[in-house]
Amino acid sequence: MHQQHGANRAMTLDVASPIRPDLLDAPGLPAIKPDAIDLSLVIPVYNEVESLPELYEKLTAVLIAQHCAYEIVFIDDGSTDGTFEGIRDLHLRDPQRVRVLSFRRNFGKTAALVAGFDYCRGEVIITMDADLQDDPEEIPNFLDKLAEGYDLVSGWKKDRQDPWTKTLPSRLFNKVVSSSTGIDIHDFNNGFKAYRREVTEELKLYADLHRFIPVMASWRGFRVAEIPVRHHPRKHGKSKFGAGRFARGMLDFFKVMFLTRYMQKPLHLFGAIGVALAFLGILVDVYLTEEHFRVGNIGSRPLLDFSLLLVITGVQLFSLGLLGEMLRHVSYRRAEEYSIRQRLE
Ligand code: UDP
Ligand code: MG
Repeated sequence: MHQQHGANRAMTLDVASPIRPDLLDAPGLPAIKPDAIDLSLVIPVYNEVESLPELYEKLTAVLIAQHCAYEIVFIDDGSTDGTFEGIRDLHLRDPQRVRVLSFRRNFGKTAALVAGFDYCRGEVIITMDADLQDDPEEIPNFLDKLAEGYDLVSGWKKDRQDPWTKTLPSRLFNKVVSSSTGIDIHDFNNGFKAYRREVTEELKLYADLHRFIPVMASWRGFRVAEIPVRHHPRKHGKSKFGAGRFARGMLDFFKVMFLTRYMQKPLHLFGAIGVALAFLGILVDVYLTEEHFRVGNIGSRPLLDFSLLLVITGVQLFSLGLLGEMLRHVSYRRAEEYSIRQRLE
């Protein structure tokens, strides 16, 4: 089925001419530089030594069949189990195609992805996990979907092979993110994704934001699609993310909502809440003032404390919004204010 998919694509690529005509033909895309690598695999690896040989074999079989100029970039994220030596062996075996970065310590998956994005040379970039849970056979399907004109194609572990303790919270997480961002995909936090280079160059990723790549990309105006992918149970080693990921993921969710919606205009968030609270406080004060002249002795009313609290908090929040605007003004960078899909010159 997979072979057939690949064969159906409009082109077959020649190693001698590494430009992917189907990608060039996709509607409204910038031209691909002829001297570039077509496809980079970016693979973060943290203590996955047993999976490496099989991963390399399977990947290579699929990539060779694509007939394009490709490279595999491994990022050793501070492994301590001999992973680096394993990747080094692959590099020595295939020095042109296997490139390696090795971190001094474990910086986390997001950092590994960012390093890979900066280092790789491909016009199309595919990220995947190193633990053989993602199936390299899906790569042609990702390329097919990109060729339809999408900028980011995200994998959906439709039939996820992980324990329910992981799949259940994950499903909840995905539902919340999808309904509050309006991005209609099922699986945000999937390491298996394909990108056009512009996306990886523009994304600002740090501190576990890899879970929200489709949100960040869509916010910048990139076209995001999803395809179902086969998922395998973990054969070797163990998962690097425990239950704590969901708590952190939820905090990060608020961070992402803030960054994508209000980062540009903090006063619109803090100012609006601040004004609403202060207004409510002032209304209560007006009522109490009237009471003071009519009945007298409002000094001991709890409502007075409450109204003061509302006014003070409101003013504080408003000031926080103004501070945010000041930061925004100082850190202003022109190129970040927009994202250009095409230039006609
Ligand atoms: N990983 C990494 N740095 C980390 C944690 C994980 O590079 O600090 C890599 C890991 O080696 C694997 C991928 O990220 O290739 C996904 O990790 P894992 O399989 O543990 O996640 P899960 O499948 O349980 O979501
Ligand atoms: Mg895994």
